[in-house]
Amino acid sequence: MYLSHTLAAEAYTLVSWWKPLLLLIPFVPWAVVVSKVLDKHAARFILPRQMWGTVHLVVGTVAVLAAISIPMKSEAAFWIGWGVMVVLLIADVVIFAVVTNKDERVPAEFRLTLDMSKWTAAREEKKKAALQGKVELTIKGPDKSLVQAPISGTPEFEVRVAAENLFMRALAARATQVDLAPTGRDNIVGVSFTVDSLRTPAVLHEPVQTKDGPPPPPPGVMTGAEALKVMDFWRAAAKMDVNERRKKQVADITVERGTQRTKVRVTSIGSPAGMRVSMLLDPEAQVRRKVEAMGLLEPQVAALRSMVEDGKGVVLISSPPDAGRTTLFYTVLKMHDAYTKNVQTLEVDVQDSLEGVRQNVFDPQAEGADFGTNLRSILRRDPDVVGAAELPDANTAKEAAKADRDRCRVYVSFKSENALSAIQTYVKAVGDPDLASKSLSGSLSVRVLRKLCTNCRQPYQPSADMLKKLGLPADKVKQLFKKGGQVMIKNKPETCPACGGVGYLGLEGVYEVFPITDAERAAVKSNDWNAVKMEFRKKNLPTLQQAALRKALDGVTSVEEMLRATTDEAPKAPPPAGPAGGAPSARAPVPQKS
Ligand SMILES: [Zn+2]
Repeated sequence: MYLSHTLAAEAYTLVSWWKPLLLLIPFVPWAVVVSKVLDKHAARFILPRQMWGTVHLVVGTVAVLAAISIPMKSEAAFWIGWGVMVVLLIADVVIFAVVTNKDERVPAEFRLTLDMSKWTAAREEKKKAALQGKVELTIKGPDKSLVQAPISGTPEFEVRVAAENLFMRALAARATQVDLAPTGRDNIVGVSFTVDSLRTPAVLHEPVQTKDGPPPPPPGVMTGAEALKVMDFWRAAAKMDVNERRKKQVADITVERGTQRTKVRVTSIGSPAGMRVSMLLDPEAQVRRKVEAMGLLEPQVAALRSMVEDGKGVVLISSPPDAGRTTLFYTVLKMHDAYTKNVQTLEVDVQDSLEGVRQNVFDPQAEGADFGTNLRSILRRDPDVVGAAELPDANTAKEAAKADRDRCRVYVSFKSENALSAIQTYVKAVGDPDLASKSLSGSLSVRVLRKLCTNCRQPYQPSADMLKKLGLPADKVKQLFKKGGQVMIKNKPETCPACGGVGYLGLEGVYEVFPITDAERAAVKSNDWNAVKMEFRKKNLPTLQQAALRKALDGVTSVEEMLRATTDEAPKAPPPAGPAGGAPSARAPVPQKS
């Protein structure tokens, strides 16, 4: 025992620590070649794989034994052993190559050579295969036919990867709309995502960490050439005429990622600055909401129900752009029973199909009758309910006002700040206060505000000053919430996983629901807007501001968001508006998702 121990110790002192490492230098590459190349080669061409495995094992063992069995008393002896090992290992590979190359099971072009170009080619193949893995989406055209993924390594493939990247980034950002629009700057196209009704510059790249490499492109932009390729990719997927860059084209495609299926409405339209393409993600889901889930306050639900029940006269539906108008329009129409009543619409961009409703499409670019004339011909068909999704001109307002108020209900939906300003716009368009006021039955208005992420919102005690500004009694409100964005994970602040650090998640509507009765009609007729306001106040129904304040008090949203969404002067674009953000030139003329 003692003896062997001393011998071992002696051996250790004699063998330098680097000698075993030297043994590894030829052994490791040999082992790699045997397992990654030779064994696979044998398996591929059904060579006696097991036999060759044994041969490699025996040669490898003998080689190592040869290296270590020579007494390592002198330096020279070690090098001799090492040399023998290298020779044996090389011989093993060469013998395998020579023998298998003669085997007729191995086709000539697959014989093993030391040709380095083949190795490079193999590496290229591998790279391509890795790229191929990047095609993650299953894209189906309007006719449900599959959009084939191009062969990897081709320019088409690179475009596909870029187009998919755009889509997947949009999904990750919970975007409901993607816009590619000219910025007015040379060769720069703005790319934006609409998230919770706010347009934000699209982040298309991970922030690059390297110090030497080129800086990553800023969010919200693409070079013109790249953007054009990506736009044309999606246009081609939607089976559009790719050469047509001016006329408006709209088509629906389906994009699947794993089990997640998204309907995408691709819209392409020309403008003086260049072509714009927008993609609405799940357009129907965006405008499909039940009245109970819309965020109406209780007295408003009751008022709206009785207004629908009444079913006569003109009801105005208004909001600023992208603020929930289309959703409200569809929801109200769906409150009417389309099976017992004749319900029709006149729309430019049909965003959802309404069961049982005849949806007439108006094409502004087509020759022929204008919107108002189309509305008149619909009204002549003796409908019970008509929804006009636009108020493009005075003629339309006049036609709506002239509709038989004892027989039918007409909804007119258009852009306006609130229920009162909508009435003013309508009366002015009709041009006859008497006729206009007689026709009116109600005015609805909507805004959307972002809901605080309940996972990371921060409670705080509002200051007396703040409560005073909000018109709230100082002693009643003990707690409000503000946006967080971070949560404590193991006592460390981390980006909130629910909202990705934004602090807001999802949307909530706030409304004005004002029925118009004789008292208001009289005030409208005499253009006394203060009197109209007074009458509205008497109804004890909340204004947009009051409804939004209620949401803030309930912790649904923040005071900051409440003010942003309901202050008319406030910019509607998000604070960090990039090139695709607030500038009117960058806003795509897409159907106002709202
Ligand atoms: Zn959160």
